Amino acid sequence: MTFRAPVSEYEFLLNHVVGYDSIPATDRFAEATTDTVSAILTEAGKLCDEVMAPLQRNGDLHPAHLENGVLRTSPGFAEGYQAIMDGGWVGISAAEEFGGMGLPQTLAVAVYEMMAGACLSLQLAPLLSQGQIEALEHHASDAIKELYLPKLISGEWSGTMNLTEPQAGSDVGALSSKAESNGDGTYAISGQKIFISWGDNDFCGNVCHLVLARLPDGVPGTKGISLFLVPKYLPNADGNPGKANDLKVVSLEHKMGLHGSPTCVMQFDGATGWLVGPEHGGMAAMFTMMNNARLGVGGQGVGGGEGAYQHALAYALERKQGKTPSGTIADHADVRRMLMEMKADLFASRAILMACARAIDMHTATGGSDWSARAAFLTPIAKAFGTDTGMRVAETGVQVYGGMGFIEESGAAQFYRDVRVTAIYEGTNGIQSMDLVARKMMDGGDMAFALIDEIEEQAERARASHPNMAEAVWQACESLREATEWLVSQQNMQDRFAGSVPYLRAFARVLGGHYHLAAAMADQGGAREKLARFYITRMLPEHAALLAHAQAGAAGTFALSLDELAG
Ligand SMILES: Cc1cc2nc3c(=O)[nH]c(=O)nc-3n(C[C@H](O)[C@H](O)[C@H](O)COP(=O)(O)OP(=O)(O)OC[C@H]3O[C@@H](n4cnc5c(N)ncnc54)[C@H](O)[C@@H]3O)c2cc1C
Repeated sequence: MTFRAPVSEYEFLLNHVVGYDSIPATDRFAEATTDTVSAILTEAGKLCDEVMAPLQRNGDLHPAHLENGVLRTSPGFAEGYQAIMDGGWVGISAAEEFGGMGLPQTLAVAVYEMMAGACLSLQLAPLLSQGQIEALEHHASDAIKELYLPKLISGEWSGTMNLTEPQAGSDVGALSSKAESNGDGTYAISGQKIFISWGDNDFCGNVCHLVLARLPDGVPGTKGISLFLVPKYLPNADGNPGKANDLKVVSLEHKMGLHGSPTCVMQFDGATGWLVGPEHGGMAAMFTMMNNARLGVGGQGVGGGEGAYQHALAYALERKQGKTPSGTIADHADVRRMLMEMKADLFASRAILMACARAIDMHTATGGSDWSARAAFLTPIAKAFGTDTGMRVAETGVQVYGGMGFIEESGAAQFYRDVRVTAIYEGTNGIQSMDLVARKMMDGGDMAFALIDEIEEQAERARASHPNMAEAVWQACESLREATEWLVSQQNMQDRFAGSVPYLRAFARVLGGHYHLAAAMADQGGAREKLARFYITRMLPEHAALLAHAQAGAAGTFALSLDELAG
């Protein structure tokens, strides 16, 4: 079955749902008009459909592997990466002065989501480079920028992020990798990192690692961590790769999915590195990369779900079983329910992704702090809901296939196995939810209430054309307001944390209702209005159960002792 990048879906979303027109209305992005966006999405769509999608099975069937210590990537991945490079897609939103296209993040996130739908494993390589480019643009010295950025932006060199160690996963502050000054402006980095995506490859001239490590005077915890750029090959005076650095890939993880993406155990033995950002200021610098990556991983979830949906739909339209008008399973009510739920949630999660990316661009263009607060609030929702949607859609996709879904050759299981990790890496979805109800509500809930007000205002406007849908969204929003008031009034953080995952999901459900309502108003009598009605009448009501859970406090969660849990 062939993959078709959802170009027209993006055009509709940007033009009618998430207010993209505010972006080219700024001086900074004046050239990124809707016509330009359409042309770029169309071009990216061709890359996805014709080059990347045909590689998706290769990654699963012929995983990346080590051959006498040399990393070999899946067949066709080198050529696929070259096509990504040739199109300039690595530097789509990077600074023009270093060779990037300088386009809005909104467009970059859309393109990368489509690429994820085509081939998630390969897409992860340039996605990581993109994050590194942004971190270096913001925090690196001029010398580092001049040497590394052009090569990273062109794709000639690739970038990775090295946070995780065996004892330091979600708790990054527990890391033990060390850095010592060499006295010449460079540092010697030592330690082991695990789970490093694309820690090496056989198609880039150099692999540049951003590594978190602690200097001798670094205090314990996150405040004592510094960030270093540690290349696989040390650049010569002419900037080309020279002597090999003192680092290596020790082994590759055997994973549940995403086999085309090598997940490496990295050993650094006094490797030469350069400080990025101030000493002990590594977490702030890394957060630039992590926020970029969080939105990007949200896009991976949506993209993975899109691929799964398209495959499941194609199968449902062919599989004959039982008596239906078309003769296929697509006309059974329960199969139709599954397909509708998949499509409706993909729309909702994609809209949230775009709304978050738009807020980032508006902050870049205007410097407005309300835009950065909005982006910060929406990022954990976009990451967690996007990846939860990807998992749920891919899992439903297996169900649509019936028994063939459980058989590897159908390809349905690969979508689920591949997308599953997106809810885990880049901060688990549990950690995202805690971030939402704690750090992102340190303003007393101001940003949450501002969004709630906006949703209600649109619902009021929609009453004339869509009274029932508007009322349902408005009521859901009032329940969300009450739950938010309850949440911000809780002094015991465990009471917030115990309900943080259902709260995040409920917020996303209501946002989904908001964007579906906008789609219904823009497409009266059309398919998007019908899909909106399905979502608002059948999926939005889930918010009530989620909010009841969100406000139940921690006592019940801890009701069983650890012994009783085991009993
Ligand atoms: C395929 C793959 C690729 C990866 N790529 C990279 C990469 O490129 N670079 C990199 O640095 N890392 C990478 N990672 C690591 C990834 O980011 C971590 O696995 C993730 O952050 C979770 O850490 P952990 O595995 O140690 O789980 P743990 O931190 O042990 O968490 C286990 C469970 O406990 C929960 N938990 C932990 N702490 C808390 C808390 N304070 N409150 C509530 N719940 C908590 C978690 O949500 C989770 O459910 C990758 C992982 C995988 C599997």
